[in-house]
Amino acid sequence: MDFTLNEEQNAIRATCRDFAEQEIKPIAEELDATGKFPYELIQKMGALGLLGLPFPEEYGGAGADFLSYCLAIEEISRGDVSVGITMEAHTSLGATPFYLFGNEKQKRCYLEPLARGEQLWAFGLTEPEAGSDSGGTQTRAILEDGHWHINGAKNFITNAGTDMTGGVTITAVTGTRSDGRNEITNIIVPKGTPGYEIGKPYKKMGWKASDTRPLSFEDCMVPAENILGQRGDGFKQFMQILDAGRVAIAALSVGLAQACLDEALKYAQDRHQFGQPISKFQAVQFKLADMDMEIELARLMYYKAAWLHMQGKPYTREASMAKLFASETAKRAADQAVQIHGGYGFMDEFPVSRYWRSVKVNEIGEGTSEVQRMVIAKLLGC
Ligand SMILES: Cc1cc2nc3c(=O)[nH]c(=O)nc-3n(C[C@H](O)[C@H](O)[C@H](O)COP(=O)(O)OP(=O)(O)OC[C@H]3O[C@@H](n4cnc5c(N)ncnc54)[C@H](O)[C@@H]3O)c2cc1C
Repeated sequence: MDFTLNEEQNAIRATCRDFAEQEIKPIAEELDATGKFPYELIQKMGALGLLGLPFPEEYGGAGADFLSYCLAIEEISRGDVSVGITMEAHTSLGATPFYLFGNEKQKRCYLEPLARGEQLWAFGLTEPEAGSDSGGTQTRAILEDGHWHINGAKNFITNAGTDMTGGVTITAVTGTRSDGRNEITNIIVPKGTPGYEIGKPYKKMGWKASDTRPLSFEDCMVPAENILGQRGDGFKQFMQILDAGRVAIAALSVGLAQACLDEALKYAQDRHQFGQPISKFQAVQFKLADMDMEIELARLMYYKAAWLHMQGKPYTREASMAKLFASETAKRAADQAVQIHGGYGFMDEFPVSRYWRSVKVNEIGEGTSEVQRMVIAKLLGC
């Protein structure tokens, strides 16, 4: 078994680490305080090829492998998790469906500008009445006169409303299957389509500089050709999208957990009490050691899930495990990082306060911790 990263993976990780240090970390506090979407930063990331990492060069991507993409997500999220989630949602949820299921025309029209970083794209699965139960979609699309007529709503959709956003791909019920369940199809809705309304950004506890919005569709019409793959394949497609997305979210959580350890270690070495640095106290050392151990384990879990994915082997179980363990590791790391900072950890001038607020959603987005446990239990045969 060889855990060595190859030259390209190391280079991508180093580029992203450097970019996070130089460009992201210095403005992370301001992004959190203002909640402004970081256009300049995202454009720079696009120019570096970071918004199209896992897509072939012929479609405007960087032609990197999936693990390289996850390494990039880890490093960017170590700089700031709002920026990390913007990159992750754009790549895993926005662009990947076009790459996996789009026809050649759709790849040229939609994937290329996304992979080149000229546009962002969103994926709208969650609805006011259909969250964890994503098959319970209520948004409906009826095919009439060569157009899909869409009515319904989506909520909590990342990247849906930025000035750079080209549109959203949504799940909609397009009929009833022979087994009586909903027939779900993924439909492409470009921004500006009449009847498609993008709501105001939510006020959030963390991930503040990422764009999250409610969407509504009222007699919204798109051409019949605006579906991904075959009619009725929507459920199968988004399960596939979520498997890979969960590995990327695990990487994002590892990046955030590592940032917690970085700050806690630095602070423990600087802060003196009882005449010595608090890092000399075993109680503090054990917290740091546990953080380091759990982060390494979470990292290995997403490496393995990414590797399985790249080998074309089944990896649903490992993706759920990596997402679940990494997000809970990040939560524990954020908690301990604040504890090691004492009262200063509660003050916004220290990054750990921001990390603590931002980490919670890692246990919710792209499937809650309960949903990950349900996936794992189902695969156990329960
Ligand atoms: C900042 C942010 C960004 C997001 N971005 C996107 C996006 O880009 N696209 C998108 O489609 N969605 C997005 N989401 C939505 C996210 O995926 C959902 O919030 C998540 O799947 C949970 O759905 P819900 O919020 O409706 O919670 P619910 O499903 O209502 O769950 C509430 C609670 O009940 C538990 N629960 C539900 N069912 C069960 C069960 N069967 N057994 C045990 N417990 C259960 C859940 O685990 C949770 O604890 C985003 C969410 C946030 C907060």
